[in-house]
Amino acid sequence: MPELPEVETIRRTLTSVLIGQEIQGVEVLLEKAVKPSSEQLIRALVGRKIVELRRRGKYLLLLLDDDSRVAFHLRMTGRLLFLPKLTPLEKHTTLVLNFTDDHSLRFVDPRKFGTVVLYWPSTPPESLKKLGPEPLETEKAVVVSSLTTAAARRKGPVKGLLLDQRVIAGLGNIYTDETLFLAGIRPTRSVREITAAEWEKIYQSILTVLELAIEHRGTSRRDYVDGRGEPGNHQCYLQVYDRKKKPCLVCGSEIQYTRVAGRGTYYCPACQH
Ligand SMILES: [Zn+2]
Repeated sequence: MPELPEVETIRRTLTSVLIGQEIQGVEVLLEKAVKPSSEQLIRALVGRKIVELRRRGKYLLLLLDDDSRVAFHLRMTGRLLFLPKLTPLEKHTTLVLNFTDDHSLRFVDPRKFGTVVLYWPSTPPESLKKLGPEPLETEKAVVVSSLTTAAARRKGPVKGLLLDQRVIAGLGNIYTDETLFLAGIRPTRSVREITAAEWEKIYQSILTVLELAIEHRGTSRRDYVDGRGEPGNHQCYLQVYDRKKKPCLVCGSEIQYTRVAGRGTYYCPACQH
């Protein structure tokens, strides 16, 4: 599933080709993927120009010239591709924005969980409104306070807290495991036991892990490609994720696999406490 680094890479690869594009037509091929409805989406978007691309957590936002916005969430398998209009539609295409030049933006989504929501900034959808701070663009004190405040109010494993988009935006299964490995903390540890010094370590590890993953243009395991259809490289640099029974890259111990917060989880029993 695309997480913050993948969506950020898509944003960067699409920005130069989408800014200034005027939407000529909208084809909705999967009604349930769009909100409020295909009719409203078509009426609102045709004739509009794209002025900016932003990312919020795992959402990619298109900002239009009348201040309306379109939020894409790729969920499990969504891809956003900028292609010539003449390119035949890929199977599982759920939405097409055709531009006044020879290009189109395609939303291709085999598992069909991805969503496209039209909204105005004054009335954002609940899921966007509730998002926690952006780890890379928010002051450190705000991010750390969001983590420690949430930890004081709840129980359960630290991994579950990091996956909660209301506490911190953009982390998913891969980058929580990578973060906790770098921080030397077991994903199963109770949030109540994490010390102030460890939260500090977790925060620094989040920054390091996300910045490196963005530098490598995201992790491609199955579906993820950037806006040009190219895979990322960060799968070659993962330290612990998807390395069950392989030797730890730091100490050589066998990487363990377990389930935490309902998600498959990898950790080193020697490096993480
Ligand atoms: Zn180790």
